[in-house]
Amino acid sequence: MAYVINNDCISCGACEPECPVDAISEGDGIYVIDGSLCIDCGACADVCPVDAPQPE
Ligand code: SF4
Ligand code: SF4
Repeated sequence: MAYVINNDCISCGACEPECPVDAISEGDGIYVIDGSLCIDCGACADVCPVDAPQPE
């Protein structure tokens, strides 16, 4: 299991510093989560203003 950021992402960057395993980075238009690093903690979803990170 990993979280995935959907297309609702507005690239605000709020989630990136919240990730304890540095799995989030800026992608092409939206932020992306490296599923091989994500530990499913939900911290990114908690801070996202548009609910873009969702459990896969
Ligand atoms: Fe990082 Fe947790 Fe979000 Fe996974 S669920 S990307 S570990 S903040
Ligand atoms: Fe995108 Fe939400 Fe992360 Fe902001 S907090 S970069 S809107 S996923």
